[in-house]
Amino acid sequence: MTHTPTFPIHRLPLPRKTLQASLARLALDDEPSSQRRSTTFAPNGRGIWARTLPLWTDWPLRITEAEAAEFAKNAEGGVVTANDVLRRWDPVDFEAADEESGLRLGTSSHRLKLAPVLLGVVESARHELLPHLEVGPVETEALENTQDESRDALVDVLSGRRVLENVDGTYGSWSTRYCGHQFGQWAGQLGDGRAISLLETASEKGRCEIQVKGAGRTPFSRSADGLAVLRSGVREYLGCEALAALGIPTTRSLAILTSPVTVMREQGPEPSSLVARIAPSFIRIGHFEALNPGESGRNVHTLFFGGAWRAEEAEVDKNDALGGQGNLEGLRDLTLWVKDEIMGGRHETVKEWFEDVVRRNAETVALWQVYGFMHGVLNTDNISILGLTIDYGPYAFMDTWDVNHICSEFVHYRKQPERVLFALDSLASSLLPMLGYEAKNSALPAEGWSEKATTDDIRQWDEAGLEAIKGWNDKFNEIVEETQRAAWAKRFGIKTFRDSDDRDVVRNHLLLLTATSGDFGVSLRRLSFFAPTRVDEDGYVRSFARQWVAAAASSLPSDSVSRAEEDIAAWLKTYAARVNEEEEVAAWKAVAEGVEGWEATRADAMRNVNPRFILRQWVLEDVIKTMDTAVTAGDIPAARTALARVLELSSNPFEPYGEDAEGNISVCDGETAERARLAGVGPKAMLGFQCSCSS
Ligand code: AMP
Ligand code: MG
Repeated sequence: MTHTPTFPIHRLPLPRKTLQASLARLALDDEPSSQRRSTTFAPNGRGIWARTLPLWTDWPLRITEAEAAEFAKNAEGGVVTANDVLRRWDPVDFEAADEESGLRLGTSSHRLKLAPVLLGVVESARHELLPHLEVGPVETEALENTQDESRDALVDVLSGRRVLENVDGTYGSWSTRYCGHQFGQWAGQLGDGRAISLLETASEKGRCEIQVKGAGRTPFSRSADGLAVLRSGVREYLGCEALAALGIPTTRSLAILTSPVTVMREQGPEPSSLVARIAPSFIRIGHFEALNPGESGRNVHTLFFGGAWRAEEAEVDKNDALGGQGNLEGLRDLTLWVKDEIMGGRHETVKEWFEDVVRRNAETVALWQVYGFMHGVLNTDNISILGLTIDYGPYAFMDTWDVNHICSEFVHYRKQPERVLFALDSLASSLLPMLGYEAKNSALPAEGWSEKATTDDIRQWDEAGLEAIKGWNDKFNEIVEETQRAAWAKRFGIKTFRDSDDRDVVRNHLLLLTATSGDFGVSLRRLSFFAPTRVDEDGYVRSFARQWVAAAASSLPSDSVSRAEEDIAAWLKTYAARVNEEEEVAAWKAVAEGVEGWEATRADAMRNVNPRFILRQWVLEDVIKTMDTAVTAGDIPAARTALARVLELSSNPFEPYGEDAEGNISVCDGETAERARLAGVGPKAMLGFQCSCSS
């Protein structure tokens, strides 16, 4: 095993190439308020990022009477401007820079007044993605009882109490601009309104970017405050880890904090949160659309909440020889940056790279379908270029099986693949000129490739591009199908999965769940306790069927119970016959060699893909309520304990949590009882609960 040297956050090494050195910066003026103004950019603006410091303030800006009097004393002509107020956040006190990375910490007396509280750190995610980040002791108890410099630096930097920059000011925290289609309509510039990236670093595990969500306004915040309420931070913090534990590609959580700043929402003031999340990159399809919007985004100048493009940009755009065409040089920079630096340069062509983006997203959405995960806001700005699940808002896991379930106001479970396909189609539209150029010239677009291009050239590239990737959407559907089949095969414990299993095993079981209002998660977990080899034993199937109905279909009216028992018994017999087939048994025996016997190996394998714990809506509401109350009352240890418990369950969903050898929940007490409760289906009223969209 290699030993990874560790560094506190402000001493992390920067990678060979940074985003800031590789992609053009968006021009903002130097006044402190410039990052607080909602600035919109036309697609012919080259850059995608702007320097942005974490800056927690109320929005609109507010100061106390005492502060106003203090400002007025020093103000020229007695007039106090927003910049006078915001300048208090400018870092003026700097520590010596780290020799290796060149990074240093800066702050101001105003920043130091912020009193951030660390609520939790995800050690497993840090270990996987950031093995070289030293965080100090972060177990719940250690947070109360120990002091640690690395941990203090982590809390200061993640909260914005101190800011990170390199010594010559060429590198520092930033936010990015993206556009997007929401619900099929072009929505203009959307973000990122409340995510600020702090730095990129690299280890033997690859690149990793640290981004905080909820650290105040950015130039892309439109009319909103850039802050996040505690409940939304907790949902993201836990959601990422629940998906990662199921093997579904996702951004990860590093830490969550709160501070005494309260956030105003419809229901009144709420405790705040700041989530630090990590991933190789947070680039989305919307970033590409920002530089070259597809058909529907071209020539649309009014932007949702953000108003029109700035006058001078609009002027440039109107006179542009390309008639509102995007910035193809910027598009090239971004594409090659993602292809070569983020994704390791394994793709020879843009086409090959695009197909990989399609594949990754197809695999991810297929796994959502098989695990009953509903994203909630599947717009093009929420689709990661790396195929990671990103932006956890009103997401939900399926309780009672229902393919038409809508977890937020918008997307049916069954329509998720279609929505991802639509997003990839928007990406394709954006990339067409590059794809076409490449096809016609048998070479990647070189710097300056588009500078002399006429509208006609671009039209021809678009056409050639479309031709070059023809059939990509069929390939997407194929990958979704294949990935789903492979994942269902695992969940049902079938090694030699074939077409007929899709119908006889999977579909028929899901239909049975629909007919019995059965619980999806409970049912599949139960099946991992079913012993197909006992099918001919007297009474075995009948008794298993009875237990299945009691556990998975407990809401059935009493006169429907015996019918449900018969139906599941019939399905179990078909299923057992299939698993007992010679070829299937042989396949299991081949992996079970030397282990207790194939049946036990098979049961174990099934229990390792069918979770006992599911991060259901009721669990989220439960932990959020406990934390909101505790944080409001100043009882931080209680908030940390509740969160740490649900994080542990989310990260280890296959443990038994009170389950006995037959899969029944045995009587337990204390901590085991609490875990068994959280692993349960919860109160009936909470099944299919839709959480509030405001966050
Ligand atoms: P979502 O639908 O949650 O993905 O959000 C769409 C866009 O709105 C994102 O780009 C967010 O950055 C932005 N946004 C959401 N809430 C806020 C907020 N409180 N302040 C600023 N921007 C926000
Ligand atoms: Mg989003």
